[in-house]
Amino acid sequence: MEGIVFDIKRFAVHDGPGIRTTIFLKGCPLNCSWCHNPESKDCRITEVSKHYKVGDVETIKSVRIGIKYQVKKLIDEITKDIMLMEESGGGLTFSGGEPLMQFDFLKEILMQMKETGIHTAVDTSGYVSENRINEIIPYTDLFLYDLKHYDNDKHIENTGVPLLPILKNLDIILKMNKHVWIRIPVIPGINDSDEDISGFLKILEKLSEKPEQINLLPYHNIAENKFKRLKINNKMKNIPGTDKKNLIPFKTKLEQSGFKVKIGG
Ligand code: SF4
Repeated sequence: MEGIVFDIKRFAVHDGPGIRTTIFLKGCPLNCSWCHNPESKDCRITEVSKHYKVGDVETIKSVRIGIKYQVKKLIDEITKDIMLMEESGGGLTFSGGEPLMQFDFLKEILMQMKETGIHTAVDTSGYVSENRINEIIPYTDLFLYDLKHYDNDKHIENTGVPLLPILKNLDIILKMNKHVWIRIPVIPGINDSDEDISGFLKILEKLSEKPEQINLLPYHNIAENKFKRLKINNKMKNIPGTDKKNLIPFKTKLEQSGFKVKIGG
């Protein structure tokens, strides 16, 4: 069985506890305007043109995005860092894209890694079928679960997909008493007003169990060049990144309602 990986990040410290290896799988059914990894959305291997300038000489090189990996080859890559993972209380994280798009590949690796005792995390948008969520729950120690908006219409407007299945899957995971870190990307003009904070609070309070923690992720405009290279319209063009300290009122409000909150990943 093979999958398409678009990046492997070693020594990652923002994708779960300890030092981790994060595998980014290609393919995503969402279309978030603030996406940091627009090159990940297409589930096939793609190509982009990169411009290089040395002195006065400009060259254009075609760069492939995505590499095919057999399950065994990827597991060999992951296990290179096994000592570091164990010593730091870290592990393996799958991200994307939406890693559950390559479901069979993801599940097979999670199953094999569980047998070795390595801590596993899946960073997901939650926009997948209930069956898929149920099937990976036994092999996933931690879910990094995105919550992008609290309002169904605004969720559709800004991501292209409805919120309700995402909330339903989140509840399924919480009811199984799994470790869940909810990640809210706080995006200027989209979900960062006082009204938005109250809206998030309302849906968080309705969840059947409290998540272990909530991460408020400040918006970064680091993907501007990627949008240019991919020739995709960047709806967030010229919108500056969010200063972490602007998220303190959001954090305080959630903490007052009993949630454990961290600014950043
Ligand atoms: S879910 Fe993540 S990878 Fe997919 S479009 Fe949104 S930000 Fe990008």
